[in-house]
Amino acid sequence: LRARIAGTPSASPEDARRTNRSLVLRALHLGGPTSRAELAKLISVTPATVSSVVRDLLADGLVEELGRTTARTVGKPATMVGIRPDGRHVAAIDLSSDHQVAGAIVDLNGKVLIRSGRDRADAVGDSLIAVVVDLCDELCGLAGAPLLGIGIATPGYVEPSGIIGTATRLHWTGVDLAAEIGGDVPVHVVNDANASALAELTFGDGDNRDLVVIRVDEGVGTGLVLDGVLHVGRSGGGGELGHVVIDPQGPPCECGKRGCLETFVSAPLAARRDRAGDAVAVDALLVEAGAALGRGVAILLSALDVGDVIVSGAVDVVDEPFLAAVRDAVAARTLTDFADRLDVRPTSFLDADVLLGAAALVLDRELGIR
Ligand SMILES: [Zn+2]
Repeated sequence: LRARIAGTPSASPEDARRTNRSLVLRALHLGGPTSRAELAKLISVTPATVSSVVRDLLADGLVEELGRTTARTVGKPATMVGIRPDGRHVAAIDLSSDHQVAGAIVDLNGKVLIRSGRDRADAVGDSLIAVVVDLCDELCGLAGAPLLGIGIATPGYVEPSGIIGTATRLHWTGVDLAAEIGGDVPVHVVNDANASALAELTFGDGDNRDLVVIRVDEGVGTGLVLDGVLHVGRSGGGGELGHVVIDPQGPPCECGKRGCLETFVSAPLAARRDRAGDAVAVDALLVEAGAALGRGVAILLSALDVGDVIVSGAVDVVDEPFLAAVRDAVAARTLTDFADRLDVRPTSFLDADVLLGAAALVLDRELGIR
């Protein structure tokens, strides 16, 4: 637990206070209610420092006192401190669906309090920006606590600055949503597969320090968490596995190339919609898609030596037999030792992983909670 909380040490003395604040919040997020004395041990600072940080957090309404410990140790019981879930709310938006723009108000524990959304109704480009801005306005009005920030998860390539470089399906190039939304509330933007990975890291159960999320919807994206940190690469394009060319003679892809990985995954998934009702045909198409995905990710997983694989996407896809086909295809292409450790499972959050990941991004950027 101590190693998970610590993360990177403070860079300079003036950062120390902010760092300690983040460490206390991260410790409470990961470990639940804790006494001040225990916090001091967990984050390796003096009890006086913890008391001072907790005093500030209490004044900010971010933590609360939660009664006293049952006497686990010698001495008088200590007062427990915990994150106050309603200390701040986050507005989260998920743009990964072609049908709707999903939105929610999420508390500091990752609980979805209110959902609201808009039909996409074929909106792309500027008209989609208008839909997002409108939904943001509504969500900001729905928050029942001071708003910590707005988190937006989008398909496509998000630059480190938060500008959406290209999102082909949304007809967006160089879109600065923070500028479009305006106002004083911080806006953070993340790729949808990376959002799903952040949701697992921040709100998932289990000790998910190393994991790969594969997001399968109209495209294929991956989110990598290594040693407890989301890796997006130097340009922010890390994980764009869907447009790796598997077969240059393959079918044309929306990116302009031929035979990208995602064409081999999305074609059978699209075909299954036309065969709805024919369970045998649908299963065969899901197996075909899963096998193609497994072939595409085997090298990545083997190179990273990460066997914890979480698949995110439509609820009817992310199930057996699709998951079994992914697992079998990866196992068939990797060493036995690796295949034995391989665990391919669905996201813990049904269809809310991307939305929760957008909220998790805000918790990380604004408070250091992850
Ligand atoms: Zn492509």
